[in-house]
Amino acid sequence: MVIGIAVPVFAVWRRIRRQLELQSQVDFITLHDPLTSLPNRMQFTRYLKTALDNAGRNHSSVALICADIDRFREINDTRGHPAGDALLVAVAARFREATIACDAIAARLGGDEFAIAVQGENARESALMLARILRDTIADADVRSHRKMATTISIGMAVGPGDGAEALVLLKHADMALSRAKAAGPGSTRLYVPSMETETQSRYALERDLTQAIEANELELLYQPQINLLSGQVTGYEALLRWQHSRRGHVSPEEFIACAEESGLIDRIGTWVLRTACQAAASWPEPLTIAVNISAAQFMKGNIVDTVETVLQETGLDPARLEIEITESLLLHNIEKVQNALGRLNRMGISIALDDFGTGYSSLSYLARFAFQKIKIDRSFVCGVSATRESMAVIKAIVSLGHALDVTVIAEGVETEEQMRALRAAGCSRVQGYLYGKPAKDILDPWAATVAIARGERRISGAA
Ligand code: C2E
Ligand code: MG
Ligand code: MG
Repeated sequence: MVIGIAVPVFAVWRRIRRQLELQSQVDFITLHDPLTSLPNRMQFTRYLKTALDNAGRNHSSVALICADIDRFREINDTRGHPAGDALLVAVAARFREATIACDAIAARLGGDEFAIAVQGENARESALMLARILRDTIADADVRSHRKMATTISIGMAVGPGDGAEALVLLKHADMALSRAKAAGPGSTRLYVPSMETETQSRYALERDLTQAIEANELELLYQPQINLLSGQVTGYEALLRWQHSRRGHVSPEEFIACAEESGLIDRIGTWVLRTACQAAASWPEPLTIAVNISAAQFMKGNIVDTVETVLQETGLDPARLEIEITESLLLHNIEKVQNALGRLNRMGISIALDDFGTGYSSLSYLARFAFQKIKIDRSFVCGVSATRESMAVIKAIVSLGHALDVTVIAEGVETEEQMRALRAAGCSRVQGYLYGKPAKDILDPWAATVAIARGERRISGAA
């Protein structure tokens, strides 16, 4: 009798236990990221809410770290999704390990975005320390073994309740700081400050105006001559973008190109620049060349080689007359992809110029690895060339480097006769700058320009 009752009770108990197990499995699945097993956004937001409520009661704080892996899309695109997943798992492990010893929780918010919330009296300091540890450990060998280049993360931080007493507000602010860190370059960390809110709004406004400007065809290209001091001839022109806005007035390309890069508009703008510049150059007398600036974001995002090929076909411009200006920052991206694209452009007959040379991070090993035909000495060195020994020494060093690598060296931003003479004395025979011509809508008559240069009439063109 007793046994007869005990069996169904035991069976019911087993069923309940099984159901509880299933329930906790379901809970785990809904609240955790399946790839890394870290808490997901839903679970993290709940935790953050509770932590902020506690902080409000205890007069303590909660520091929130939002981080994402720099250039993660490139890894997925070039190495494939399994490599991307392996990197996410390795990074997640670093986040989990970093939080073990403190009152903190790590989560994967989605994609390549991770977060940590730290509670306690010294939450801010602890979070800053965690950020440092994360940056160091993520760059270490284990993570790096998943790809051939060092992994870096960008970090944004906000501390509640000061920067936000509600979970979603604090997340928004840490995310804003993260965007700033991203814009500052790989591996950066930024702490939220209230001015970021207004800056973000004005960036959105700029982006909206820029989108309208593209649609209304308000962007314009100007052309600045490049001179060979030995022959006294204009060898070609650099295309420089201009935007005159009805309310903002002249917006500097440095400002709106940065906005275009962040918002993704750079693809459309860059393709328009390339097409317009090549179209113009195709109508110029041969062998005048056209130099077009391609930003690193545009170079890495779309398929730049295909775009260039299409534009050359459409416009009929001889590839030998096209020069693409890249900056040293591009060389910090996925080396194989950049090498490959530059090699293909070279094989098509297009030359590559390294713009703003000396201001970036280029090491000599980079220079040896990439195929380029021209170095443009940055204006900051040219400014001081006639005044300081240091600038002169830098220019001489770059000119000898150019000779050793068998590439042309051109100095940009030449404004005075003294600068021109100093450059000539340093062995630099190509120049570009206001002394010879400001960027202008139309190019000069080549013969008249040569005669003007020969006569020493330096200013051969003169628009805005
Ligand atoms: P950059 O490619 O190094 O262009 C040279 C900049 O120096 C231009 O400024 C030019 O107007 C200015 N400049 C030339 N000669 C002199 C001089 O003698 N004195 C002084 N003070 N300045 C001189 P700009 O046009 O404002 O362009 C600034 C930067 O914006 C460019 O630097 C380039 O990085 C970017 N940019 C301009 N157009 C484009 C474009 O079509 N695409 C991309 N991706 N970037 C562009
Ligand atoms: Mg340039
Ligand atoms: Mg430059």
